[in-house]
Amino acid sequence: MSTITVSPPPAIAVHARSIPRDAHPISRKDISPNALRVLYRLREGGFGAFLVGGAVRDLLVGGHPKDFDVATDATPEQVKALFRNCRLIGRRFRLAHVVYGREIIEVATFRSNADDGSGDRETHEGGRLLRDNVYGTIEEDAIRRDFTANALYYAIEDFSVRDFVGGYEDVEARVLRLIGDPETRYREDPVRMLRAIRLAAKLDFTIEAGTADPIPALAPLLRESAPARLFEESLKMFLSGHAVASFERLEKHGLLPVLLPETAKALASNRSGALRRMLIEGLRSTDLRVANDEPVSPAFLFAVLLWPAYCRDLMQLQAQGVHAAEAQRRAADRVTLHQLNTVALPRRFSLPMQEIWLLQSRFSQRQRKRVFRLLSHPRFRAAFDFLQLRQFASPEHAEDIAFWKDVQTQPGEMVAAQLEAQAIEAAEGEAPRRRRRRRRPTNGGGATE
Ligand code: ATP
Ligand code: MG
Repeated sequence: MSTITVSPPPAIAVHARSIPRDAHPISRKDISPNALRVLYRLREGGFGAFLVGGAVRDLLVGGHPKDFDVATDATPEQVKALFRNCRLIGRRFRLAHVVYGREIIEVATFRSNADDGSGDRETHEGGRLLRDNVYGTIEEDAIRRDFTANALYYAIEDFSVRDFVGGYEDVEARVLRLIGDPETRYREDPVRMLRAIRLAAKLDFTIEAGTADPIPALAPLLRESAPARLFEESLKMFLSGHAVASFERLEKHGLLPVLLPETAKALASNRSGALRRMLIEGLRSTDLRVANDEPVSPAFLFAVLLWPAYCRDLMQLQAQGVHAAEAQRRAADRVTLHQLNTVALPRRFSLPMQEIWLLQSRFSQRQRKRVFRLLSHPRFRAAFDFLQLRQFASPEHAEDIAFWKDVQTQPGEMVAAQLEAQAIEAAEGEAPRRRRRRRRPTNGGGATE
């Protein structure tokens, strides 16, 4: 692949503005004590020290930042000399991590995206950034960031907020706006399109028209981004408590067919809308779990996100006459494999995801041994939660849900006795057929939803 150096994008206007302490709401008591320690120590060392990025943005809108990043004019080596608990990471662009137990404060030296002729900044022919490792001024550091709201600096020297790109007003107006020419910025790094969606969903900001408009046409560029990075970005998007809002925005801005192509196709061809309903319910319950501090798993999330694709493949295979169990296995493999092209789901998540799908066909079984085997399956709980979600797509699962709910709350002996009684009834020929119902061959795993 040839790399060429392209001329820098049109200069971005910088208007420096300082919002004094009494004119903004950020208070030191909302900042992590360890981040404050780092800021003060840098300042005592004679360096500029600022809280930057998502933390400043979140504090301004009254949120609770999950991490606190620091920017400084000290070089990484100078930072290291100030802290015993500091390690330098990264080869091309070195960052300092100051470690306090489980909290890490990331300290980055101001950097610039400007081409200084040293060859330290190279751009791919399409305009994509390959390297990004020139130290710079605070202004340069601000304009290389993605959105104006992400380019605000909280100065420890006077507790003011420094703004170079109009980010303060944008945060006040709850607007997400790319710094510079949007198309150029998306071409440099297509993942910024997903960040726009994710941050708008998380903060309930509107995406400014100039920033939103190019997205549908540029969406295919995301296919060139590293699948592993897209996986990380997807987790942030769907496991941070704003999954429904993110999904709806992905659809609205034409990104779904690129991020989850098989799911997008399946949803488009599912005229009843049942599959979409279920998917949204799955995301809603994920959001609820996050809000309640309950654990959420990438495997369950992707089981929800890719279920429409799985159902579609399953139906196609069964229409070709493939036997139910074999069709389920093949559909699960096919969907998993396809998805790797865009969002790379690691095997430690794709295997349990497939198990959740494949266990679905076992909820209709009532033979004693099989009931106990399913109950003790390590993935039973996830698979049962998933079965409950399927109720939103089709009411036909009500009976199975009631049975398995019952069975879980009863002690083992009672379940055994109940199943035995059912078996005797059945043997006497009096049991209603539906109790021992087998799935219709066209319906293995719920493909008709
Ligand atoms: P979150 O609250 O999810 O952490 P964030 O804005 O802090 O959101 P990070 O990924 O932690 O996101 O990035 C920290 C900062 O780095 C951002 O606020 C932004 O200034 C800058 N940044 C991150 N990703 C990019 C990007 N792709 N292009 C330009 N700047 C970026
Ligand atoms: Mg962050």
